[in-house]
Amino acid sequence: MQLKTILNRVENYKSFVYANVRWVNGASRPTIEVEIQPRKNGRPICSGCGEVRPGYDRLPPRRFEFVPLWGITIFFVYAMRRVDCPQCGKKVEKVPWCDGKNHLTTTYRWFLAGWAKRLSWQDVARSFHTSWENVFRSVKHAVFWGVAHRTLDRIGAIGVDEIQWRKGPRFLTLVYQIDDGMKRLLWVARERTEKSLRGFFDILSDEVRTGIRFVASDMWQPYLNVIAEQAGQAIHVLDRFHIMKKMGNAIDKVRAAEARRLKEDGYEPVLKRSRWLLLKRRHNLTDNETVRLSELLKYNLQSVESHLLREDFQRFWEYKSPAWADKFLGQWCERTMRTKLEPMKKVARTLLSHRPLILNWFRAKGTISSGTVEGLNVKAKLTLRKAYGFRTYEAAEIALYHTLADLPEPTFTHRFC
Ligand SMILES: [Zn+2]
Repeated sequence: MQLKTILNRVENYKSFVYANVRWVNGASRPTIEVEIQPRKNGRPICSGCGEVRPGYDRLPPRRFEFVPLWGITIFFVYAMRRVDCPQCGKKVEKVPWCDGKNHLTTTYRWFLAGWAKRLSWQDVARSFHTSWENVFRSVKHAVFWGVAHRTLDRIGAIGVDEIQWRKGPRFLTLVYQIDDGMKRLLWVARERTEKSLRGFFDILSDEVRTGIRFVASDMWQPYLNVIAEQAGQAIHVLDRFHIMKKMGNAIDKVRAAEARRLKEDGYEPVLKRSRWLLLKRRHNLTDNETVRLSELLKYNLQSVESHLLREDFQRFWEYKSPAWADKFLGQWCERTMRTKLEPMKKVARTLLSHRPLILNWFRAKGTISSGTVEGLNVKAKLTLRKAYGFRTYEAAEIALYHTLADLPEPTFTHRFC
């Protein structure tokens, strides 16, 4: 079987044929060139208007990189025709294996983008002997295609989340769809302003926007404002994940302040490596860690006190009746307000001022699972942390859409990866 025969099976073009196939001597890597010719009597298509037009002349042959085979780099070689178009003037013809001035074939770009879902961009570049930029551009192409072709209808529940970002904007705003059977990233924007979130609602039709039934978010005021303004019909839930995250941050602050104080007073830095012990829920601790935690508890430190408050608050989520939950919330906040734990008191005050939205959790129970936003948040963080080697906000945004947005792809006659 010849290479041409295989190519005709996996990548067939109606108006073009594969001609000579040659091994390239003296190339830095093993390389094969496959020449392409237009079919006899096949007339070129204008890239401006997409109409068949009379040929004008031919440009010198160009190489287009295709999917590598057995570690061999494959190039298509073709001399582009120019057309004389009454509408567009003199234009280069349109060819089916690539668009514009790209030197990578479209199939190869989808191939690289497919691998970039499983490996870091650097790994993809290394594996297929190409550059990081080529991988980035391929992923970007896949994302643009996917975003242009995705459907945004029947969105029942969304989760609004923010992620810290180390360069450029300090935060990214993310919006997920969190319906049963459809969990995906819908939107990424810079910062966490009202504008960041309003941009999301702008891409929805009024019908879809007013059809949203549940919104989960944290207590960030600009988000609350925009959600009330754009999705007033929805049950707005301050969800478990975000509330517990806030409490985790408060415990962190108490611990840091206490460690500082103890050190100043000349005590052993017992809290130094205890952060994870305090943040972990009790049943997740190993035996060894349980011993260390009980040693720590002997000190009756503020960190421990706030840890116990947090541990106690977990009971809140177990309530079936909103009325009892509300009562518990009131008591918990009262107890917290009597302590000297400033960061925890701040959480209690925030909880009290958002009481109705927090109690909505019980109205949405069974519809919004607390793990959903958390799971997506973990994946998003992982995507950002993974060694993609990106430096720009644009690359981060592209990577998030690529891995989390569940974007559609064209149907291929043959899947290369
Ligand atoms: Zn034209």
